[in-house]
Amino acid sequence: MKILLHPAILYIPLFLFTLFSCSNEEEEETIESDSIIQEELEEEVDPFYAAIDENSTLEEYWELFVADAIRSGKPDPGYGRTMNLFFGNEPDFASGVTADHAGRAYDVCNDETVSFEIIKSFWEDFSVVQRLYTFYHEAGHARYKYRHPYERSEVTSAPDNYPIMWLSMVPENSTLEEFIKDKNDFFKRDWEGVRYFNCSDN
Ligand SMILES: [Zn+2]
Repeated sequence: MKILLHPAILYIPLFLFTLFSCSNEEEEETIESDSIIQEELEEEVDPFYAAIDENSTLEEYWELFVADAIRSGKPDPGYGRTMNLFFGNEPDFASGVTADHAGRAYDVCNDETVSFEIIKSFWEDFSVVQRLYTFYHEAGHARYKYRHPYERSEVTSAPDNYPIMWLSMVPENSTLEEFIKDKNDFFKRDWEGVRYFNCSDN
């Protein structure tokens, strides 16, 4: 039996193959450029902090702090401790208290608690980045016994590149990129003039 093939039949598979390979190539190109865009975005903003916004509670900031410590290779900073985080009122500045602290840590030498307050009126005016600085600063006192590297009375001018433990209030224009660099140093205990509260007498 003789099979007669119409010449057009021969063209169809070839034509299909060409179509398929073209569209495949396009798809690959799209995927490739998508992942490049994504990489660039991740370099700019650490998506880790996207969990926090202006409505986040102190407890949510603490949860973030815990996760951040753990991913920095530290043990869970809240493990086995009673948490006591709260908003406080503005101190009476007329009594001589300076206005450069947005919070206060308590019971620093007690290893069974993490206790600190944030001044509510300051917090409300802060950006998320400023809040992160204040929160980490007070948590640094309360959980890690970090002291300020120096007090204002000990220096004549502010250092150019100050760590989280220098001030609990940072300028409004502080960026998330600066914070990420500073908090990496914070967990590594790596900044100029690291010092701790002396709890040996207790
Ligand atoms: Zn402080």
